[in-house]
Amino acid sequence: MGDKMRRIVFFILILLIMMIGIPALFILNVGIYKKPAPEDSAMIKVYIASEDRVEEMTKGQYLREVVAAEMPASFEMEALKAQAVAARSYLAARSFSYAKNGAPPEHKGADICTDPSHCKAWISQEKRFESWGTDAEKNWDKISRAVSETAEEVITYNGEIISAVFHSTSSGKTENSRDVWGGDKPYLVSVDSPGEEDAPNFKSEKTISIEEFRKIASENIEGVDFSYGDIGTITRSDAGGIISITIGNVPVKGTLFRTLYDLKSTNVQIEKDDSQIRFLVTGYGHGVGMSQYGANAMAKNGADYISILKHYYTGVEITKQNI
Ligand SMILES: [Zn+2]
Repeated sequence: MGDKMRRIVFFILILLIMMIGIPALFILNVGIYKKPAPEDSAMIKVYIASEDRVEEMTKGQYLREVVAAEMPASFEMEALKAQAVAARSYLAARSFSYAKNGAPPEHKGADICTDPSHCKAWISQEKRFESWGTDAEKNWDKISRAVSETAEEVITYNGEIISAVFHSTSSGKTENSRDVWGGDKPYLVSVDSPGEEDAPNFKSEKTISIEEFRKIASENIEGVDFSYGDIGTITRSDAGGIISITIGNVPVKGTLFRTLYDLKSTNVQIEKDDSQIRFLVTGYGHGVGMSQYGANAMAKNGADYISILKHYYTGVEITKQNI
């Protein structure tokens, strides 16, 4: 092949690449030119409590990882969407409050942390994939959809973002926030929550010796005196949760009682004989706001995420806010 011929072939090749290759690049990669959803470009700082470090990630990624930590991926799509909107509302409420009052020092300058007793449960995508095994991609896609299909939606009451608290399993009825924590949030009031009887922790029980019962109380409750008996007056909420219980001679809050005896909820019936005390517990968690198993039961019956959220948070609206 002559030099001239080689140059012609080369020229034709270049021409072909320009005519076919370049437009093909645009067509194949069209996704790149799509504007990403704001949540997938807005960055937030997350304090990873277990590793004592701050990580920057998109808001969308954080929300996916929170939903993945909070709710089983096997739940109905509408229940997952309700969880996604609750998680986003929580993040937004925290951001507003920190912007106004300053962030707490335990956040090390981050917007939110991963300590479930302080902010929200969270798991990295990587760790979640390990525990999901072969279902990982499928589960992640489902959770991603729940977050992106509700993009920017938050729960408001009188125009303000609510404190979207939730729990695993109710006793068949949710609790008033004032019966559990005091204060009075008009959107956190008791509602019926049927269909949870099959949830894994709907019923649980625990038996301890009277000796152990007294030992725990003596170590944790100041001035407790068992000459008054072991258990006295119990006051209960409409949903059946213990608001206050007298142990020995000291009335203690239901929430403290639950913590001391490591019970799944404050909805406890107590049976006692000469040597033992038996706790019969209904539900799992504090009982306030959305019940996750209740949300899943509603979704199975055809409810969408908006009706689920409006059921568990009284008088709220779901609004789109770019936050
Ligand atoms: Zn926190």
